[in-house]
Amino acid sequence: MRTDMLIGGEWTTGGGPAFTSLNPATGEVLAELREATETDVDAAVRAAQRAFVSPEWGGLLPAARAGLLLRVADLLEEHAQDVAALETRDQGQPLGVSAGFSVPNAVEHLRYYAGWVTKITGITAPLSVPDVDYRTRREPLGVCGLITPWNFPLMILVWKLAPALACGNTVVVKPAEQTSLSTLRLAELIEEAGVPAGVVNVVTGGPETGRALVRHPLVKKISFTGSTAVGREIGAECGRSLKKVSLELGGKAPSIIAADADIDASLQGNLLGGLLNSGQVCAAYTRFYVDARRHDEFAEKLAGAAGTLRLGDGLDPETHLGPLVSAEQVEQAARYVAIGEEEGAELLTGGSRPDGALAAGFFFEPTVFAGVRQDMRIAREEIFGPVLTVLPYEDPEELAVLANDTDYGLAAAIWSRDIGTANRLARQVKAGTVWINMMQGLDAAAAWGGMKSSGLGREMGWEAIEAYTEVKSVWTSLV
Ligand code: NAD
Repeated sequence: MRTDMLIGGEWTTGGGPAFTSLNPATGEVLAELREATETDVDAAVRAAQRAFVSPEWGGLLPAARAGLLLRVADLLEEHAQDVAALETRDQGQPLGVSAGFSVPNAVEHLRYYAGWVTKITGITAPLSVPDVDYRTRREPLGVCGLITPWNFPLMILVWKLAPALACGNTVVVKPAEQTSLSTLRLAELIEEAGVPAGVVNVVTGGPETGRALVRHPLVKKISFTGSTAVGREIGAECGRSLKKVSLELGGKAPSIIAADADIDASLQGNLLGGLLNSGQVCAAYTRFYVDARRHDEFAEKLAGAAGTLRLGDGLDPETHLGPLVSAEQVEQAARYVAIGEEEGAELLTGGSRPDGALAAGFFFEPTVFAGVRQDMRIAREEIFGPVLTVLPYEDPEELAVLANDTDYGLAAAIWSRDIGTANRLARQVKAGTVWINMMQGLDAAAAWGGMKSSGLGREMGWEAIEAYTEVKSVWTSLV
């Protein structure tokens, strides 16, 4: 297991203080890492800048760049089992999630963007100017700073890394301090694939390391996924220095169960949609709007199903729900349960930490509150844990207003057997992604990102190519 950082092709130990990465299933120390100082970050950015203009990377023909991305994808696929197990030990997500979703999704992104490399084209346009030829070029930006969160460390990194490299940029990655290990492992595989030194650099550490990267004058773009509060700070700093910035931030996704929905058919999707990765999903379904006449039926069925999920170490194949990533996240879930009870919501299941064999890990029982009102904090604030809220509604005409009555706008789910109702609501809801009659789906070809306080810009699809390139207009005189 690598615990040092990669700067300019050299594995080095950062100059800052040591910090530990814990196994959240046991609370035990998994690894000791070092915080990158401002000097380390500066060295990483300068290495990336040198690589950007080097013949080995900057001069590489597109087909060769695509070949390198495909080689990284193949290596990641070859090592999928051990990378997934590492992710599970460091982050906590069950193997079913890490091996069945996170790693394959990362491989898919690498292959998808390898396909784009040879298709990043500009346009020609018929200008109303005599005797000129006009075309555009899409050029890479330069050094991009990629700052990632702890909930899907490897997968979210690759959402940024694959298009950044496909477009010819170089990167400095700053993984979340709780979960750096899969990023370091991927960096090893990137080296093994033959990606030139300095193209991908990794600096480990916490907020100070991230700030040093955001402030660095040679960094041309920051792509950040994390909390809305930190996103605002990064956005402000990038605004001051006029860096490009993409922000993928928090969410509080509504799941709208229309009066005609098949509750039983929707249950599994809603349960998994709310509790995947123990609710540590930015697009987790956490506000369930149910017709008041069917509220009790839905809430009881949801709570009944949640209560049967098996908590455990993610390495155990029988586990449905792993631990939360840290003691802080457990405290946050417990705090919101207390708030919900004080606010008068009805706790149907869960609400505490399990005891016995799981007491040493950062586990929290799947929790369902019923009879929740729109003004309650548990229905408004991002909990980022396994705490679900069911809200009754009286008037279907109010549904879009209720769903939109939030600062967030990342995602929403709609359940209805009526295609008109479902699509009308899909138009009205202010969210970057709407899923109709399904749990969350993700695909490298489907644009991803938030409205309102859930972020700026889009990842995935052609949108990510636009986000990692700049358009240059080239005019040629024909006379
Ligand atoms: P966080 O904002 O605390 O940290 C995210 C990353 O930013 C970490 O690497 C952290 O070290 C770094 N960081 C913290 N302060 C910084 C600063 N001032 N300057 C630069 N870097 C800084 O978020 P988190 O707790 O790791 O992740 C959970 C959050 O991420 C949730 O709000 C969740 O909704 C959001 N998220 C969003 C998406 C999405 O696609 N929209 C996906 C996953 C997670």
